[in-house]
Order: sequence, then structure tokens, then C-alpha cells
Amino acid sequence: MDITARSGLLEAFSRVLGQSGVVRDAADLDRYTAEPRGRYHERPLAVLRPASTQEVAAIVLLCREHGVAIVPQGGNTGLVGGQSIDRPEHEVILSLERMRSIREVDADGASLIAEAGCTLATAQAAAESVGLLFPMSLASEGTATIGGNIATNAGGHLTVRYGNMRRQVLGLEVVLADGRVLDGLTSLRKDNSGYDLNQLFIGSEGTLGIITAASLNLVSMPRQSMTAFIGVHDLPATLTLLRLLRNHLGETVSALELMPRLALDFVLDYLPDAHDPLVRAYPWYLLLQCDTAVAGDWLQDACVQALERAADEGVAADAVVAGDDTRANSLWRLREAISPAQKTGGVSLKHDISVPVATIPEFVAETCAALERQVPGIRPCVFGHIGDGNLHFNLSQPEDMAADAFRALEGDCNRIVFDAVVRHRGSIAAEHGIGRLRAGELARRGDAVRLDLMRRLKRALDPDDLLNPGKVLAPGESG
Ligand SMILES: Cc1cc2nc3c(=O)[nH]c(=O)nc-3n(C[C@H](O)[C@H](O)[C@H](O)COP(=O)(O)OP(=O)(O)OC[C@H]3O[C@@H](n4cnc5c(N)ncnc54)[C@H](O)[C@@H]3O)c2cc1C
Repeated sequence: MDITARSGLLEAFSRVLGQSGVVRDAADLDRYTAEPRGRYHERPLAVLRPASTQEVAAIVLLCREHGVAIVPQGGNTGLVGGQSIDRPEHEVILSLERMRSIREVDADGASLIAEAGCTLATAQAAAESVGLLFPMSLASEGTATIGGNIATNAGGHLTVRYGNMRRQVLGLEVVLADGRVLDGLTSLRKDNSGYDLNQLFIGSEGTLGIITAASLNLVSMPRQSMTAFIGVHDLPATLTLLRLLRNHLGETVSALELMPRLALDFVLDYLPDAHDPLVRAYPWYLLLQCDTAVAGDWLQDACVQALERAADEGVAADAVVAGDDTRANSLWRLREAISPAQKTGGVSLKHDISVPVATIPEFVAETCAALERQVPGIRPCVFGHIGDGNLHFNLSQPEDMAADAFRALEGDCNRIVFDAVVRHRGSIAAEHGIGRLRAGELARRGDAVRLDLMRRLKRALDPDDLLNPGKVLAPGESG
């Protein structure tokens, strides 16, 4: 784009959004371009901050007219670069941060309508204000937005009970690539009047439409909660334990988080005031949370009985049950600190994968052995939402290897992990999405029919490749 066309377009953006709606200053751009993994840094032509659905639609029409692509952005906490810029002079970031109101909370219908730029924490608080729960929780919830959560179909530790973001969405308002607004903001629980178009946009990572608001499902607020930290001798025993806990505690099981000893060691180094909850060290740990909306004081006893049974059967080596919220929070803190704590172990190559739960012991053993053959001394730190089969298969550098030498082995490590995932009929992207980071991997490994349908959908909804090009479908794949 030549200089005259460029300044004309920037003036047009300002006319629609006002001066404060257009960010161009280099220092101000940093918070939109610096993403959590530090992989992508390119600057956009501008960051645009619409304050209404109509302004989003007007910006889409302007961008379309000038052939400028749009990268939607919420809280910029995405872990696969979906919110980042690929071609600086030809792309704008459209930030939803000024669209952050809660339009409606319906206690009787157990739903709320949030604008896309609301943080997840704001939506949780709005639900709580009427005594209900929005059943989604991520460590990034103070910054990640409802629009971003829907666009990535986020999961989290409550997914094992309530499902991921897809299960929480009742209706969507979406600005399409041609500037029209799809008004699907229903809170109906039953609506079979044709194709469910919401499902197209959930998990589409900003490539099919710009989500501007969502109607969300709420559930009853828990009245009893219990958290326990359990030591386990091996992964097969962990699976037996999962089965036993589900049999005894049923739908009260709300979170089942796996962590290895290496992760706990990293965390104990990283948090000086934290301590090992159990007297002896174990190879694996399970963090269990149970909740029920039924009033009473029976849940803790039920959990203790289930854990005693697990100990009798030899599947739980030791356990501690949190007696109060403070103790429960300190157990959760150990889990939440794994990602930052892992940095104390040097470079970490990360893989957000899922496999069928029953295959986890075999998958982990086989993959770790292949990695050790390729990179002797590599330190797998495999943790995550074991109840969903979702593992963060993170690999810390060998203690005697330089960081750059380990980084150079990323391709080899990815191949080993993803080959094993495919062999076990798993997914190379469980909850973080494909974004830019895994688009090439999906193009190489994805099912041909599925990829063909995805390309056709993209062409039908966004024929000019205006919305987040190069994300999900690798560059050149969508045309
Ligand atoms: C500390 C930490 C912990 C995390 N824990 C989890 C976890 O447990 N589970 C999990 O699933 N993820 C987790 N994440 C990843 C991240 O928080 C989620 O992917 C989140 O849903 C992204 O929301 P966001 O608003 O930050 O989106 P962004 O990062 O801004 O964008 C992510 C993607 O969504 C698109 N997008 C954003 N808003 C819109 C919109 N309104 N319309 C259309 N497209 C849009 C973007 O283009 C991009 O492709 C974590 C991240 C961090 C930093």
C-alpha cells in the first residue's frame, strides 16, 4: 500500500473510532504484540479498538475495501500465536478490549450475555452476583476474554465436569467478513431450527468471524468443596484411582490434575514459601477437587472414605485432604505455578496434546523412551488435565546441555511427540488451538477430508482471506 493510501485508511479508521480507538505509537503497541511465548513480535499497521458491534462492522468494511487483513485479539494470552501479526504492513489488530460490558444476567434462565472483551474473571463475577457459577476457570482468567475463550474453545481444570467453552455457549453475535452481523444471541436451550452456526465460530480462532458478544450458560454454585493432593506410584495406578474416584464420588469430581515429581521439584524451588504436602516423594501426584451444589457437610467424609479405599487397594500411596479454603488454595498454587516454575529448569519445549485416557500410561512411557534415545538426559515434565486425556507434554533441557543446542532439537522432539500422538489417535492441539504455531503441523498431519472441508468453509465465509490469514490453515492453504 502506498503512503497516500495508507494515511487515507488510517484517517478513515480514526473517523470511525475516534483518535483513542486507533493505536499507532510504538511504545503503546508493545502490549498487543508481545505474546506469552515470546515467539512472535511483528507490529501491525495499527491496533484498532472499536467500542461497539457497529464499529467492528464498519472497520471490517474499510479493511475489506483496502485489502487489509484483520487479526482479532482479546486478552493476548493465547499460546499458539493466533493473535499475532504475520505481515506487518498488511494487517491490523482488532482488539475487543473496549467491548467489555455484561449486557444482561438472567438468574431465572441461568444465563448471561457478555461482550467479547469481558475478561473471564468479569463473567465469573457477574454469575456470582446472582448466586450462580460460570463453570470455566483458567490461570489466565484475569486477562483472557470471553471472545478469546470462545475463539479458542478454551478448556481448563473444570472441563472434566462441565466441558470446555463450547458447552457453555448458548448464542453468539458475530461480525462476518462481509461486514454483516449474525445475531444469534439466543439463550434458548432448545433450538433445532436449522444448522447450529454457533458451532462454526467456536474454536475457529478468529478465522471465520469476529465474535462481539455471547450468551453463556450458568450452573448452580457449589455449596460444599473438597481438595486433596494424592501421591501415586505409577501411571497405571493413577488410571485405576481415577476410576475408583469416579465410582465413589460421581459427578462431584470437578478437577483431576496430574503432576510429576519433576514439576513439584521445580515449583518448590520457585516458590520459597511452598512445601511438599506429603512426607515422602512419589513419582506422580493427582490434585483432586470435588464440589456439590447440595447443601450439607458430607462431601469431605465421602472423599476421605474414597481415598481410604484407594489406599487399601494400593492405588493411592498417600494423600492429604485440605481442611479449609486456605489449605485448598495452597495446594492449587502448586499446580498453577508449574508453567512459570519450569523456567527455572531452562528451556522447555511445550506440547499441548490429548490422547484417549486409557492409553496414557503406554503413550507416556513409549514417548519418553523415544525422546531419551534421541536426546539423552532430556527431562519430560508431563502434567495437566488427566481426566480429559489432555497432557502438557513439556520437555525441559538436559542439565548438561546448552539452551541453544536444546532449542535446535525442537523439530526432532516435536516429531517424536506428535508421531506418538497420531499413533494413539490423539490430537496435536488439545486446548490451546492451532494458531500460527501448529498450522504447518496440521497441514502435514491432518486428515485430508477434514482439511478439505475446513478450506471450503473458510472460502465460503471469508473468500478474500481477510480474517486472521495463515492461522489454523497454513499460509496458502485457505485460498
Ligand atoms: C498463564 C496462562 C494459563 C493458561 N491456561 C489455559 C488453560 O488452562 N486452558 C486453555 O484452554 N488455555 C489456557 N491458556 C491460553 C489462553 O489463555 C486461552 O487460549 C484463552 O482462551 C485466550 O483468550 P484471549 O482473550 O487472551 O485471546 P487472544 O490471545 O487475544 O486470542 C486467541 C485467539 O482467539 C482469537 N480471538 C480473540 N478474540 C476474538 C474474538 N472476539 N473474535 C474472534 N476471534 C477472537 C484470536 O485471533 C486468536 O486466534 C493459558 C494462557 C496463559 C498465559
